[in-house]
Amino acid sequence: MHKHHRPLGLANSQDGARGGVDIAKLRPVQPVTLLRPHAARRAARFFVEKFLGRSIYAVKANPSPDLLKILWDAGVTHYDVASIGEVRLVSETLPGAVQCFMHPVKAEETIAEAYFEHNVRTFSLDTLEELEKIIRATARDGVAATDLNLLVRIRVSSDHSRYSLASKFGAEPAEVKALLMATRQAADALGICFHVGSQAMSPAAYAEALARVRSAILEASVTVDILDVGGGFPSVYPGMEPPALENYFAVIHAGFEALPISYSAELWCEPGRALCAEYASLVVRVEKRRGTELYINDGAYGALFDAAHVDWRYPVRLLRETPSKTRSAEFSFFGPTCDDIDQMAGPFELPGDVGTGDYIEIGMLGAYGCAMRTRFNGFGMTESMIVEDEPMASLYAGSKVRRSNVVKL
Ligand SMILES: *Cc1c(COP(=O)(O)O)cnc(C)c1O
Repeated sequence: MHKHHRPLGLANSQDGARGGVDIAKLRPVQPVTLLRPHAARRAARFFVEKFLGRSIYAVKANPSPDLLKILWDAGVTHYDVASIGEVRLVSETLPGAVQCFMHPVKAEETIAEAYFEHNVRTFSLDTLEELEKIIRATARDGVAATDLNLLVRIRVSSDHSRYSLASKFGAEPAEVKALLMATRQAADALGICFHVGSQAMSPAAYAEALARVRSAILEASVTVDILDVGGGFPSVYPGMEPPALENYFAVIHAGFEALPISYSAELWCEPGRALCAEYASLVVRVEKRRGTELYINDGAYGALFDAAHVDWRYPVRLLRETPSKTRSAEFSFFGPTCDDIDQMAGPFELPGDVGTGDYIEIGMLGAYGCAMRTRFNGFGMTESMIVEDEPMASLYAGSKVRRSNVVKL
């Protein structure tokens, strides 16, 4: 049994806990995180088998060591890290893993520790200044490193994504040529990377980004060894039903094949959300009802940051042994802290008779949910349990419906 399954009020309940209703029967006072290792394993196998290149897990989406081990066991050997904390975590948790430091702005001390102490050889950058930092930080006795994989991050549009990442990172088109040429000089392997933003709702996001890569390569006429299409692969949420992932892969594979790059060039991607969204959900208790507002025991400072701050909608279900027969209605949530910001507009659809003392499962919190908890105001304590039922939405399970979404290319 894993150490974090130490039960607070749920002693002896692991056996036979198949899903949310079983947990609700135990009437936990604190929120309970339900973990689905089988769902994370399935997502990892999907990428390992169907993406015709290397799938690099973006650790920030969920850095849980248990999850890292699940992904590793499922065949994910490379990890996208963005801070020295993540580098150390991955080194400790998965000593055999290959780490790629894909944050384009890093402290020189961090680069040096990653390179010399954790054997990191892959770094991204989006300015000449950062290139110089990497060269300085990895030199030994004034001799430059000759084993660097350097990826130039170019700016691409976030138009197709629910979460923009277009304004912060990425070399400007006017700077890309000089940057690629200078990086070529310093790199053993030269790569180009981009990130279309998170939850990209159309494969066109990648097609458009690849068109920019193509013109950048032609303009700089450098030999490119690695193409890294970043993250952004979507999951399923209410009101956000993306096309099947196979479509994304097909667009990327076709775009990669058409690039003017070396015959032996490698294709990489950096999925975060798509590998872990289905890994976790949360069981919360309703502590008060006021009209269509439910006061629940987790919120903006817990696993529901995105629900509060960017109105992300998660699937919900009422956990009763005898399902309610009342027609469903739209509800909003208040979190447990004293802060007014701690509210989630939803709308969340639940049976109209939901009330104080009821338990609700909030699904799809494995990515950017559980990872962002705080202890603000004395809340944020949860326990975790492994369950075996299916996640509330899935890109990978029961994909018969989803097959009809497959676009012929
Ligand atoms: C956040 C991030 C990812 C993962 O993004 P998802 O949308 O979770 O797939 C990948 N690459 C980079 C550089 C990132 O910043």
